Amino acid sequence: MDEKKDLLIIGGGPAGISAAIWAKRLGLNHLLLEEKNDLGGQLNTIYNQIVDYPGMIAPNGQYLQKKLTEHAHKINVDYALNSAVTSIDWKKKILKTTADDTYEFRSLIIATGSSPRKLHVPGEQEMIDQKEVYSATRDKSKFINKDVAVIGGGDRAFEGALLLAEAGSRVTLIHRSNHFKARQEYKDPVMEHENITILTETVVTGLKGKGRKILSLSNEGLHKTIEVDGVFIRIGVQPNTEPYSKGIALDDEGYIKCHADGETSLPYVYAAGDVCTRPLLSSIASAVGQGMTAVKRLSFYLEN
Ligand SMILES: Cc1cc2nc3c(=O)[nH]c(=O)nc-3n(C[C@H](O)[C@H](O)[C@H](O)COP(=O)(O)OP(=O)(O)OC[C@H]3O[C@@H](n4cnc5c(N)ncnc54)[C@H](O)[C@@H]3O)c2cc1C
Repeated sequence: MDEKKDLLIIGGGPAGISAAIWAKRLGLNHLLLEEKNDLGGQLNTIYNQIVDYPGMIAPNGQYLQKKLTEHAHKINVDYALNSAVTSIDWKKKILKTTADDTYEFRSLIIATGSSPRKLHVPGEQEMIDQKEVYSATRDKSKFINKDVAVIGGGDRAFEGALLLAEAGSRVTLIHRSNHFKARQEYKDPVMEHENITILTETVVTGLKGKGRKILSLSNEGLHKTIEVDGVFIRIGVQPNTEPYSKGIALDDEGYIKCHADGETSLPYVYAAGDVCTRPLLSSIASAVGQGMTAVKRLSFYLEN
């Protein structure tokens, strides 16, 4: 068993890093556990300019990731990489990680963020394993004069479809209903774009192939296939709550239920960032703020 910590922080994205910076500042005996081999969370997957984080216009997420990591290093924040939390014993206040470590804690912040939602159809995992997961911003030039499928009906699907079509891809936008959640500013240009074909009330039932893909589609019982060079799945996100979903209260979409200050159904467990914030309100700035609030509140709890 490793040393007992006053505060363990799970997740090294903006919320977790901010929490760790504040824990250091408040003199708490803390440790941040991150499952990947680098800090930053979703920042590592942002290829567009970030114009809404106060204090800087970052050319991309990696730039901000570097800044936050440098900050954490400069003040000697305690963290461990390649340490995915796999289970928590809520009564004993002990958790285990994939690094085979066991930690005892007095308080906990869950800042495990969110991940892209999957279709859960045959062939999807193979596509991910083959590293055929693309960013429209980063990869649009790969698909000039090629066929791509964008799946989804929200802002990210529409924005991606537009970026690819503008770059010269032939885009098929596939959505399971005929109602789109995307903002009007994206809807009009997508609907009018000559490079975009929209298939509504259509679900993807499978995909296969390496490189060029065959997509199986189903529309009200009618089945067909289309062939594309790239697939962009943009059907929303899901909170990363797997290892502790049984210990604390979640809402109907699986987000951690918490008060405005981050307190969950257990008084010594707080949540911060995308794991407790739906996409409409999530942002780097809010994750950072929530991380700070959670630590301050827990520091009062730890004093008693
Ligand atoms: C393409 C894209 C563009 C975006 N653009 C913007 C933008 O311009 N402006 C903006 O404000 N926001 C933007 N966002 C959203 C922003 O990145 C998120 O709101 C923010 O990163 C949330 O921070 P977080 O710390 O809550 O979670 P995350 O960034 O998701 O970090 C969570 C961390 O927890 C780790 N983790 C998960 N489970 C475990 C476990 N069991 N054990 C240990 N570690 C675990 C993950 O590996 C990850 O590092 C964008 C997101 C994407 C994907």
